[in-house]
Amino acid sequence: MDAMTAISRIAEKCDSFYLYDKRSIIERITKLKMAMPFVDFLYSVKCNHNPNVLDTMFSHGFGADAASAGEVLAALDHGTLPENIYFSAPGKSAKEIEAVWKKANLIADSLHEIELIEKIAASKEEAINIGVRINPETAFDGGIGVSSKFGIDEEPLITYLTASQCPHVHIMGIHVHQRSQELNTKVIADYHRRIIDLATRVEAATGTELAYINLGSGIGIPYADRDEEVDLSLLSKSLKNAVGERKTRILIEVGRYAVGKSGYYAMKVMDRKISRGKTFIILKNTLNGFLRPSIARLTEYYAGDRECLGREPLYTGRYSFSFTAIGKESAPRETVDLVGNLCTATDVIAENIDMPYLEPGDVVVINNAGAYSAVLSPMQFSSQERPEEYFLGMDGTEFRAAGYGTAQFQD
Ligand SMILES: *Cc1c(COP(=O)(O)O)cnc(C)c1O
Repeated sequence: MDAMTAISRIAEKCDSFYLYDKRSIIERITKLKMAMPFVDFLYSVKCNHNPNVLDTMFSHGFGADAASAGEVLAALDHGTLPENIYFSAPGKSAKEIEAVWKKANLIADSLHEIELIEKIAASKEEAINIGVRINPETAFDGGIGVSSKFGIDEEPLITYLTASQCPHVHIMGIHVHQRSQELNTKVIADYHRRIIDLATRVEAATGTELAYINLGSGIGIPYADRDEEVDLSLLSKSLKNAVGERKTRILIEVGRYAVGKSGYYAMKVMDRKISRGKTFIILKNTLNGFLRPSIARLTEYYAGDRECLGREPLYTGRYSFSFTAIGKESAPRETVDLVGNLCTATDVIAENIDMPYLEPGDVVVINNAGAYSAVLSPMQFSSQERPEEYFLGMDGTEFRAAGYGTAQFQD
């Protein structure tokens, strides 16, 4: 069964839901792994922590890029080994660090955090290998380095490493992540080369070879029709060249590349009305079920004709989502606004859009809904029924997945 057939079937019993397509996820991650067999890939759990998605990613050789203690524990729960989990986030608490102690590779995000880890290690009388997230002296696109809330600026870090004051903490890895959703292959390739050079500078300061270089993300996906896929084979050649004879473990993190295009969000038409000449199609759970399309429309409304830069993961760019009415290919067309059932006028996902004639019971599907979708939407607002999450297995059967609240950390 294909995704659209599954969606029409599920819509018979459900008014709003996500569908994640396992076959599509596996196709995409196979492409990545085949293109870069010398890279260890991590799945960025924060983009979609649905349990079936986690199982799919982790059972296909992906480690975990965890952004919280909860995500570390979720990765462990789904069978990932501690050495394949990397926990990187600003502002970690001592409680979170303790909760995942030796259950993941800790990546310190500041000098304060290195010292916090040193204090915890000293109190346990244990040594620990950690990584550090670095804000390099160069920007993602090669310009001069910029200020960032993430990581430690390279220059003071190098000074710190040269003095090396923490007896229990050994810095064995580096992590850099400066941008998501880049589609220019050459920009990513040049970025990779600069980070490998950065690793060499860090090794010179510590006098030790690094165990891993985590290149972060950056690999984007086509959202709008005009977007093109990153050239993975070119990227692979360039990175292999930059790595050269190094034995260091090379890591790349991906979230959206794996699941962004493998998810759909379906909403039932609840009502249609004409108000003073304008036709409104009222859909189930728009802004509250899938926030990004409403944010896009709001951003573009205020931008007018100005250029609209991406601000991930809230906003990607114009024409990032398309709206398809299922089984309505031969219906007459009309111009409508697609709006939601919330008691706010801001849940609008499209204005003056050309759609087939829609009536209550019809289904509208939004594409590109696999990443930063359910996890990023204000589902508590107005106590609406939550959208369900369904997972389309390889054998074409679809099943309901308890998705929400999986990655919770409670002390
Ligand atoms: C969110 C995040 C990612 C994933 O980004 P995608 O664009 O979804 O691939 C990777 N690394 C870090 C550090 C992140 O915060």
